[in-house]
Amino acid sequence: MSAEQTGALTILDARLDGERVAVRCVDGRIAALGSEVEATAGDERIDAAGATLAAPLLNGHTHAAMTLFRGFGGDLPLVRWLQDRVWPVEARLEPEDVYWGARLACLEMIRTGTTRFWDMYWHPAATARAVEDAGMRATIGGPLFDMPGDTERMRAEALEALDSLREAAPTIQRSLAPHSIYAVSEELLGWTAEVAEERSLPVHIHLSETEKEVEDCVASHGLRPAAYLDRLGLLGERTILAHGVWLDRDELELIAERGATVVTNPVANMKLAVGGVFPYPAARDAGVRVGLGTDGAGSNDSLDLLSDLKAFALIQRHTAGDPTVIPAPEALRIATGARAPALDGGDPLAVGSAADLLLLRRGAHEIGVGDLASGLVYAASGSIVDTTVVAGRVLMRGGRMEAEEEVVACAAERARRLGTRV
Ligand SMILES: [Zn+2]
Repeated sequence: MSAEQTGALTILDARLDGERVAVRCVDGRIAALGSEVEATAGDERIDAAGATLAAPLLNGHTHAAMTLFRGFGGDLPLVRWLQDRVWPVEARLEPEDVYWGARLACLEMIRTGTTRFWDMYWHPAATARAVEDAGMRATIGGPLFDMPGDTERMRAEALEALDSLREAAPTIQRSLAPHSIYAVSEELLGWTAEVAEERSLPVHIHLSETEKEVEDCVASHGLRPAAYLDRLGLLGERTILAHGVWLDRDELELIAERGATVVTNPVANMKLAVGGVFPYPAARDAGVRVGLGTDGAGSNDSLDLLSDLKAFALIQRHTAGDPTVIPAPEALRIATGARAPALDGGDPLAVGSAADLLLLRRGAHEIGVGDLASGLVYAASGSIVDTTVVAGRVLMRGGRMEAEEEVVACAAERARRLGTRV
């Protein structure tokens, strides 16, 4: 019998919680896990040789194809970076640019242990095709902006973008993605809320990234950003709020009450120098669901979520002046999506869960540390990932991936075409 005949994958001799285990994956799910598990004839087999078995990471906010913008105007202030560099190039983007930019992002995420991400970018069908070809999972939405007088066209484009994702693979979900409360009119935000309700779709939006956004919202609407979204019917269990840097206590309580999720992007916030820090301790105490994201490679510039996890834990401890404010296991669970069910990740490594998993090579993260979570948060980066499996399919083994050279070459060619790279 060949591997194709069972379609199953068995990983032997892995370590989990100090125990030697094997894991058998069938039809995309974990069918068996434990010290007594054996491979069946015809299974694809991996000898983990004692490598650590771990749950993969979930990137809760990114713009995958922005790998093509990495380092392009990266030292400019936010508004000049957008107006002088990003937006003029984005006006010339073609679906093939987005496809290869997103393939490059997938390559980097697979390499560093992320298997699922939430994306907001132009030509969402091209991103979906890239995710499917890369073998990952994602929730994808085309960004919704509007200009006065152009609302009808934006609505039509948003519905077209949704339709373009209808035929996507089962590993891909759709979302509505109004860019922000400052780039989308009140009328269009209200319409988004109606469509989200009718079609049971998640809504992915940037919120409270800069202090100016808060001041402008209060001046225009008499409400802070979270209360404004709530008034428009856009704050619910399927709402994903990227950033949340300037949320106050009342807003955090409202977000918790509505069951919405905040995805914090600490590295992008620091790189763009937004001047504040997501108030994680207050958010947790209020009961807010929290995830971790990188934001796009244009403003980070890395998609290595494990590196950003360290930055997240450090900035929270430093800001609070309290090293106990975020224990390492809690931080790690945030990076796997386990503290935000709406992100649709964070499955425990257990029988019946999706067969999405990592094998981690030996490194400083497991030498001389009391527990693995502490090692992963503070002594590791994505370079410790040896093997990445999604839905029982091996996407990377021993640091090697299919089509890697082609993806890097094609993405570089697209960046040259756009003029974001020499
Ligand atoms: Zn963003």
